[in-house]
Amino acid sequence: MFLKNLLRVRNTLAFRLTLWYAGIFTFSACVAFLVFYLMITSVLRDRTDQELLSQVSTFSSIFSAKGLEAVKRVALLESQAAGERKIFFRLLYPDGITFSSSNMSYWQNIRVGSSAIRMLLEGRLHVFETMTIRGRKHKIRIIYSIIGPGVILQLGRSMENQDRIIEAFRKIFMLIMAGLFLVAVLIGLFMARRALAGVAEISRTARRISGSALDKRVPVKSRGDEIDQLAITFNRMLDRIETLVTGIREMNDNIAHDLKSPLTRIRGIAEITLTTDADAGDYESMAAGVIEECDRLLDIINTMLVISRTEAGVEKLSPEKLDLAEVVRQAVELFRPIAEDKNITMSCRTPDTLPYCGDIRMLQRMIGNLVDNALKYTSSGGSVDLAIGRDKEQNIIITVKDSGIGIAPEDQSHIFNRFFRCDSSRSLDTSRSGAGLGLSLCRAIVNAHGGDITVDSTPGHGSTFSITLPKSSI
Ligand code: ADP
Repeated sequence: MFLKNLLRVRNTLAFRLTLWYAGIFTFSACVAFLVFYLMITSVLRDRTDQELLSQVSTFSSIFSAKGLEAVKRVALLESQAAGERKIFFRLLYPDGITFSSSNMSYWQNIRVGSSAIRMLLEGRLHVFETMTIRGRKHKIRIIYSIIGPGVILQLGRSMENQDRIIEAFRKIFMLIMAGLFLVAVLIGLFMARRALAGVAEISRTARRISGSALDKRVPVKSRGDEIDQLAITFNRMLDRIETLVTGIREMNDNIAHDLKSPLTRIRGIAEITLTTDADAGDYESMAAGVIEECDRLLDIINTMLVISRTEAGVEKLSPEKLDLAEVVRQAVELFRPIAEDKNITMSCRTPDTLPYCGDIRMLQRMIGNLVDNALKYTSSGGSVDLAIGRDKEQNIIITVKDSGIGIAPEDQSHIFNRFFRCDSSRSLDTSRSGAGLGLSLCRAIVNAHGGDITVDSTPGHGSTFSITLPKSSI
């Protein structure tokens, strides 16, 4: 269980971020401490060198003022005063032979450096050396210098004090590093958790969302950071899913409702014929009624299929060069007899030709639907006007304007949805009955051509449907 939890934590982003943070933090601290350490060791060594140099200059002065014997005396006194394990001296001839020294029993392993003597004889003023004696903890810093004619001084000093300081520094460094690492882990954990709190909130919301709780949204903190952007995108996606799911639910209801009516009618016709003393003529008219209702059902199902396939891009357009002005004129001529029957004036304004590249079958169906609606929802004595032309950007604009019953403002945003029918049209006579799929199909066709369809309507005064098709390349 513990191992499982550990593995789970190890895989979290917060854990990895914390490790990165702590790692980078500790590495930077190590680099800073290393620089500091090198500086300290260099400063301490310089200080030791300075002390050695000042002692050498003292001995030089004594030599020139009082001679060699005075130097021997003072050097002995100094080494005894400082401690014979702290400093030592040797007085050497230029060939490296010792002619006087302090008590060397503790320093017997220290030899005279022949290369140092050579360098002095070659003209160097002082030569420094650092030596390590096996089995001894502390190093020794040695200076060689010519303090008078034919007299070389070898002066050594234990670096015990310097080593102690550095040792103390190392201990403090280890302690501070351990503390810093702990602090870095805690800060890293805090920061990672804070930064990822939004992500956790999003995944919690995602878990809470089920088919029935699509209204849940992730709170946006208004900080404008990446997490906020993620939350906004996530919420937008949820909006879209909610709209889609609601749409699917509504459509299911509508399908059930719209398919139920023809099926009920089919059943009714058959039942009446069976329960009455029907003759051959009655059976004939039953068959005709059933065929009519079945056609209606098939039409609904086929239109739904075309809409879905066109919207999903499965129904491929068959674009061809065509004259859209001619398509509009043909639609007017096709519907003119119906308009005359209903005593509706039809007019049409088109340029001579309007070349376009599109799916003629689909475009004819779209214009036909709009004209059919215009005639359906306009009463006797009204008018239906079609127009086609180009706007300033050379896009094609088709308008179908009627003086019919109009559409209530609250319905205008819904009329392009599948199966939507305004209440006013549901209550109208059967000549105006429809499945509520016509405009939905129009929108799918226009969108498939890269265009847009809008409506402008005033109840009681009529409606104008406008289609904008992007300018064609031909
Ligand atoms: P329908 O088959 O019911 O006509 P549509 O999708 O073509 O389905 O239209 C949806 C609804 O929009 C119609 O039921 C009607 O209420 C309204 N509508 C469409 N065109 C017009 C119009 N020209 N005038 C008034 N209402 C219209």
